[in-house]
Amino acid sequence: MGYDEMKFTYEAYRNLIALLRECGYTICDYHNYMQSDKSVIIRHDIDLQIEKAVRMAEIEHDINVSSTYFVLVSSNFFNVFSKRNQAYLREICDMGHAVGLHFDEVKYDGQTNLVQAMEEEAALLEHCLGREVRSLSMHRPSKATLEADYKIADGRIVNSYGTEFFHDHKYITDSRRNWREDVTQIIKSGTYERLHVLTHPFWYDEEEQSASKRLKKFCTGRVEQCYDDLSDNIRDLEEFLRKDDL
Ligand SMILES: [Zn+2]
Repeated sequence: MGYDEMKFTYEAYRNLIALLRECGYTICDYHNYMQSDKSVIIRHDIDLQIEKAVRMAEIEHDINVSSTYFVLVSSNFFNVFSKRNQAYLREICDMGHAVGLHFDEVKYDGQTNLVQAMEEEAALLEHCLGREVRSLSMHRPSKATLEADYKIADGRIVNSYGTEFFHDHKYITDSRRNWREDVTQIIKSGTYERLHVLTHPFWYDEEEQSASKRLKKFCTGRVEQCYDDLSDNIRDLEEFLRKDDL
């Protein structure tokens, strides 16, 4: 690549925010961006690990950034209704961020009315959060979904892949731990008045980590977490299995 790629560290992320501000962007959300001449909507998708999103939310809170976190309610990796995860998600809200629905259409296999499924999942998430859900993003959207410009709950819930946010904004993402474009240059260029930035908190940490190292750490951590959760459910677990033997 012909440019310095942004690192996946919290420091690099803070620098990104500082650059946006230096370049005159106001950090907005899906509902108020029209009030600013030069706006950036910051979005994070929670695909794998809610804990990393909480960390990112704290970092943003410290630098006065409010963003939107989209969370799956149909994930194989976490249950949003568990005591721990529900508390994490509410913590993110309490820091002044919005939590929206991350929707995985694969679950519905093209069979059902997708908009109805979105509305049902949003209602579940509202119940989980104890708050209104006003935005939705797609997890790994198909071409058809990207082009659909869905109207959800009569427009009460914003579709972040709708024309307004996907085509009328310059959309940049770090999906699969790769920005693909020179983010710094895009911000500095002054070409775009409306930015829509998606990051995945999963990839970020204090120190830069390769994708393989990060993924390995995630897998190992899951095994340890599994043991701790087992010990909450099986009395004298160590009589059967010791943590050291994992
Ligand atoms: Zn996703």
